[in-house]
This record gives sequence, C-alpha cells and structure tokens, in this order.
Amino acid sequence: MKRLLLVGGGHAQLAVLQALARRRPRAVEAVLLTPSPWQWYSGMLPAWMAGHCRAEDCCIDLRPLAAAAGARLCLASAVALDAGRHALRDDSGATHDFDLLSLDVGSLVDTRALDALPTDSLLAVKPLQAFFAAWPQRLAAARAGRLRRLAVVGGGAAGVELALAAAEAFRRAGCTVALALVAPPGGLLAGHAEGARRRVLRRLARAGIALHLARAEGTAAGLVLDHGAGDAPATLPADCVIAATGARALPWLRESGLACDADGWVAVDAGHRSVSHPFIHAAGDVCTRATPGFTRSGVHAVHAGPVLAANLLAAVDGVAEGEPRRSYLPRTRSLYLIATGPRHAIASWGRWSAEGRWVWHWKDYLDRGFIARHRCAAILPV
Ligand SMILES: Cc1cc2nc3c(=O)[nH]c(=O)nc-3n(C[C@H](O)[C@H](O)[C@H](O)COP(=O)(O)OP(=O)(O)OC[C@H]3O[C@@H](n4cnc5c(N)ncnc54)[C@H](O)[C@@H]3O)c2cc1C
Repeated sequence: MKRLLLVGGGHAQLAVLQALARRRPRAVEAVLLTPSPWQWYSGMLPAWMAGHCRAEDCCIDLRPLAAAAGARLCLASAVALDAGRHALRDDSGATHDFDLLSLDVGSLVDTRALDALPTDSLLAVKPLQAFFAAWPQRLAAARAGRLRRLAVVGGGAAGVELALAAAEAFRRAGCTVALALVAPPGGLLAGHAEGARRRVLRRLARAGIALHLARAEGTAAGLVLDHGAGDAPATLPADCVIAATGARALPWLRESGLACDADGWVAVDAGHRSVSHPFIHAAGDVCTRATPGFTRSGVHAVHAGPVLAANLLAAVDGVAEGEPRRSYLPRTRSLYLIATGPRHAIASWGRWSAEGRWVWHWKDYLDRGFIARHRCAAILPV
C-alpha cells in the first residue's frame, strides 16, 4: 500500500483527483489535505465582483471529487514539511506520513510593501476564500457611504480586472467611490503587447479609474506613492486598498528541505517532480521551472495537471527510475482574456489583441466550462 498525500485542491490537483477516479488504483491510500471543501476559481472572481454571477458559480466542491477518487478528505492547512522524513504537519498539529506527495497549494499575495497599512484597510486578493468573504462587506460599506475611496495596487491582469470589476460593482450599486489603480513605474501589463495595453487604458479611463504609475508603500497613515523621477512621494487617500501585488511562496516550503529557488518556489523538472526529492511532485503557482514561457498562471496550472496526474500514477505503479515520464512543455504564448467590468473583455495573445462583448462571452463560456468539468463527480467513468 502506497500512501499518496495530495496537498492543496488547486487547478492541477483536480486532474489528479479525476485520474484517480478513473483508475482507482488498488495499492494506494490517498488523502487530500486542503483547508476548505471549496476550490475557489480566480478566473471568475472579477465576474462575481461585477455582479455577473453568484459566488457558488465560482467554486468547485472537492468532496464528491475526493470521494470519486477514493481519497480521504482532510480539511486542514499544511504548515510544515520535512521532505527527507516523508512527513507533513498540518495546522491542527497532526502529522501526515507519505510515500508520494503532490503539492498544489498555490501562492499568497506579496503584500510586504503594504503590510504597514491599517489592517482593516488592506484586502489581499488571496487567499481567494477570504476575499470572497470580505468583498460584500466593502460593497455594503460603499452603499452606506462609509467607503468613498478605493485603490487597487498591482499592474498585472489581476489588478486591472479587479479595479474594473470594482468600478462596475459600484456603478450597479449606485455608489460614488473614487477609484485608483496603482501599477509599477514600468507600466501596466508587463509581457502584454502594446495593443492590449492601449485597450486596457481606454477601459480604465472610461470607467473613471485614475491610473498611477508609481511604487506604492503602505504606512499607518495610508498609501504613499513614489513616482520616481525625483518627484516627492505623494499620499493617496484610500479607505480600502486591494492588493494584487504578485505572488509570494508559502513560507514553510523554504524550510522543507526541498530544492527551492531564491524566492522559495519549489524547483521541479518538466515532469513536475521535485529536482531534489523525486517522490514529491508539485504543480501550479507553488513550483518554478527553468523553462522559457513558464509563468505563474492558472493556464499553466491547468495544463500541467494531466502530466502531474500521469507521473504520480506511474510512481504509484512503481515505474522504474529512468523510464520515460510525461513532460509538460509550456507554450511560449498564452491566451489571456481580461474582463473589463461590464460584459466586455479584452483578449491578448502574443502581439494580437481584440475586445468586445463576444470576448466576454468566450471567457464566460471557458470559465463556466472549467467549473462544470470538475463539478459533477458522477459524470466521471469510475
Ligand atoms: C483576480 C485574479 C484573476 C486571475 N485570472 C486568471 C486567469 O484568467 N487566467 C490565469 O491563467 N490565471 C489567472 N489568475 C492567476 C491564478 O489565480 C493562479 O495562477 C492559479 O490560481 C494558480 O493555481 P494553483 O493551482 O497553483 O493554486 P490555487 O488555484 O490557488 O489553489 C491552491 C489550493 O491550495 C489550497 N491551499 C492553500 N494553502 C494551503 C495549505 N497551506 N495547505 C493545504 N492546502 C492549501 C487552497 O485552498 C487551494 O485549494 C488570476 C489571479 C487573480 C488573483
């Protein structure tokens, strides 16, 4: 009997659960350890904020998936890993011994520059579960006139989507809130083509969102913006600051004994096996690869899933070292569909971009399809 420990119910782990449900290998005792029975889907968060869908449309119930996979569900968060001893500790103090480990625990938001803000004004977009719980309160505060200024910090696609979704939510609720988006001095949407950037700038202007290209720092008195170029830092008043400031690795990974890069991400090979501990696999935001085109995104987490699943099952079967394993080769260009608040979105793929209601419907179709594929364990051929 091999003990297979699945930690985190992230995008790639869903493929592992589905593969286990299809195969149901006899010689395995599987456990899924994750803090919530719900896997929240970031791709639909902006649509939910903007009022186009319900919270329950944006999450996958892990319970039927785990049951179909024959995995025992343990609702807890990992807090320490000792890779050499094959042991992981959770926040209840329990230790989980394993023969094979699959990590898909995602990432945190890197709020280090903002942490000095008053705690009630800082709202990190991750963990998603906490954001889904907190946003309705902020919207209620805006309705009651207690939230008048909101700033989103983050110049990536997530920051743009959150600012535009907030603008749409306030518009629908009939409240007047001054909105600002703070992106790094280098500009918005690094890695996207000029055309996509121009389209986003137009939508921000149309939604009345003030764009600041500056380094933001949180202080007890509020946000301070450094625009560089010798200008004196300026304060940006905000009752609420949403942080979408890039990803940060979960802190316990660094202490785990696993080979990690300088930022604490788990180093894996093309088969998503740890480069230091081959009985440990990792996929999604948690891992790092020295492969061109590999970035932290849901797209890569989803595409890596079937490879992770195939290689884990091969390890369960005891495939010998040196036998060929499946590899995930990221494409050099990925398609990004950026929701802009109302039922409208911008598509960005390499140098190509487009926008319109049809892009929003395309995104909505893909997002809802992703949820539906994982929703009903009964459709799996077990
Ligand atoms: C607003 C927004 C919109 C986005 N839109 C897109 C998009 O359109 N396309 C795209 O490609 N990317 C998008 N992203 C990025 C995307 O969210 C991440 O890259 C993606 O979620 C990574 O997937 P993952 O499987 O690594 O982690 P996640 O999907 O975050 O899953 C992590 C899992 O681990 C669990 N977990 C967390 N900590 C622990 C712990 N200590 N122990 C056990 N379990 C734990 C969580 O509960 C969760 O089940 C967006 C991000 C944001 C913030």
